[in-house]
Amino acid sequence: MLPSDLERVPISALNQYLFCPRRCALMHVEGIFIENEHTILGSLLHDHSDEPGYETDEGVTVLRALPLFSDRYGLTGKADIVELGGGTPLPVEYKKGKKRHFENDDVQLCAQALCLEEMFGTGVPEGCIYHAASKRRRQVLFTAELRAETLSAIEAVRSLLQAGKVPPAILMPRCDGCSLRPVCMPELTGSAPSEAWRQSQRDLWKA
Ligand code: SF4
Repeated sequence: MLPSDLERVPISALNQYLFCPRRCALMHVEGIFIENEHTILGSLLHDHSDEPGYETDEGVTVLRALPLFSDRYGLTGKADIVELGGGTPLPVEYKKGKKRHFENDDVQLCAQALCLEEMFGTGVPEGCIYHAASKRRRQVLFTAELRAETLSAIEAVRSLLQAGKVPPAILMPRCDGCSLRPVCMPELTGSAPSEAWRQSQRDLWKA
C-alpha cells in the first residue's frame, strides 16, 4: 500500500485516543461531540490561533492555523501556530490546562512536527506548548522515544478507525471531566477496571 493510500489519521484524534480510546471512537467513528466547560474554554483559547494568517516580527514569521499533512504517516490536521525563524519550523500548541505527567499533548505536537518535516523538507527538533493556566511556554524535544510513542499512537488510532468499533467503557477518574459522559454512560456500560489498569492510570496521570 502506498503511504498516500493509508487512512488519514486526524492529529487531534491522537490526543483523544491517549485520553480514552472510547472517547476517540465516539468522536471519530460515531461522529459524536458534546461541549462542556473544558471544551468551551479550549475553543475560546483557540479563537485567535484558529484565524488563518501570518505576521512577521523581529525576523520571525508566525503562521496561524496552518493546515498540516503527512503522506508518509497518513496524517492530517492543523497547527495552532508555527514560527519560522532561521528556517526551522517551530510548532506551538495552545492548551488551557497545566502540564500533565502523561505526554498526550506532547504526542500531538510531535505528530505536527512529523508533518512539518515532510512539508518543509527539514528537521524539526523541538516545539512548544503554551499552557494558558500558567501563561508559560514549555519546550518539547522530539526525542527518539517521543517519536516512537507518536508512531505507535498513530497506528493504534488508524486501527481503531479502520475497525469502526467503539471500545467498551471503563469507569475511571478522568470520566468526570469528559464531555461525552452523558452518552458514554460508563456507570452503566463500563466494566470495572482491574487493579493493574487503575495503577497504570495513576502512573500516567499523576500531576
Ligand atoms: S466517560 Fe470515561 S469511558 Fe466514557 S468516553 Fe469519557 S473518558 Fe472514556
